[in-house]
Amino acid sequence: MILVVGGAGYIGSHLVKELVETEEVVVLDNLSTGHREAVDSRAIFVKGDLGNVDDLIMVFRSYPIKAVMHFAANSLVGESVVDPLKYYNNNVASTIMLLKVMQRFKVKNFIFSSTAATYGIPNVDIIDETTPTSPINPYGRSKLMVEQILADFSKSYGLNYVVLRYFNAAGAHKSAAIGESHDPETHLIPIVLQHLLGQRDKVSVYGSDYETEDGTCIRDYIHVTDLASAHILALNTLLKGKKSEEIYNLGNGLGFSVKEVIETCEHVTGIKANVEMADRRPGDPARLVASSQKIYDELGWKAERNLEQIITDAWNWHQKQEY
Ligand code: UDP
Repeated sequence: MILVVGGAGYIGSHLVKELVETEEVVVLDNLSTGHREAVDSRAIFVKGDLGNVDDLIMVFRSYPIKAVMHFAANSLVGESVVDPLKYYNNNVASTIMLLKVMQRFKVKNFIFSSTAATYGIPNVDIIDETTPTSPINPYGRSKLMVEQILADFSKSYGLNYVVLRYFNAAGAHKSAAIGESHDPETHLIPIVLQHLLGQRDKVSVYGSDYETEDGTCIRDYIHVTDLASAHILALNTLLKGKKSEEIYNLGNGLGFSVKEVIETCEHVTGIKANVEMADRRPGDPARLVASSQKIYDELGWKAERNLEQIITDAWNWHQKQEY
């Protein structure tokens, strides 16, 4: 059985929907930002808190867990600057608790959701896993700290792990049954689509004086279903008993500017957006684009869905929501 911590969240729930096809799955989530109805009905759901050792012990006692996939984290850069304690507590301290309980129950396989925010402001156009990490906010630091803890646990206790550094996760399940829903929403694609549905009066572009071709920030958008398939490949290598302490980037390898994303949303929906130029958002690097060559070479994974597909799937889901 696979334990998915944070399996009611955006990325976790998409992973669970794929994983239940081949594995028995138990989801642990405190529903602080996740949605119970997003958890596939074939998975067992336990409402509980990662920071609560009794909740963890109860799950490990009740189910024969052979691997843990950890999606339960806070992930807003701005919030992490305002409230770093929340980030170090929920993202670092709670993960240590989880690792401790895993050790007690002799579970050695761990998949960890990390982030491009570990790279900070890289001085290369295409980021690979050898690019130095130098996070510029508590969110990125909290994820990098866990990566370092995992490396130490691997050497000292034989923990087997894969770290996946996501670039900009976006899109929705092709069935439109689940999608991206944060409160408050801060991500570009859902904000543009909500605007095009009449839920917001405009889209603000945070900064048009960056050193990029059109002056707006460039990101690498990756379909959430492509992320899910990378997790399943990574899990399968761990389950085969292969010793692993790998880190992989997950991106498309293509950068799109904020303006290009808005234009693609207009193209997919056939609706014109009301766009205003606004000030830069603190903490935004100008350009974050991944090389995912390493995971292609080692596990045969590459992103299958392009930006248009991401926005099409997201649009199909957004149109079904009642705002
Ligand atoms: N962005 C924007 N307007 C918005 C939301 C986001 O211009 O209403 C920009 C943001 O500054 C960044 C890019 O869109 O350059 C992607 O932001 P998002 O929050 O989606 O992801 P992040 O890269 O911060 O993880």
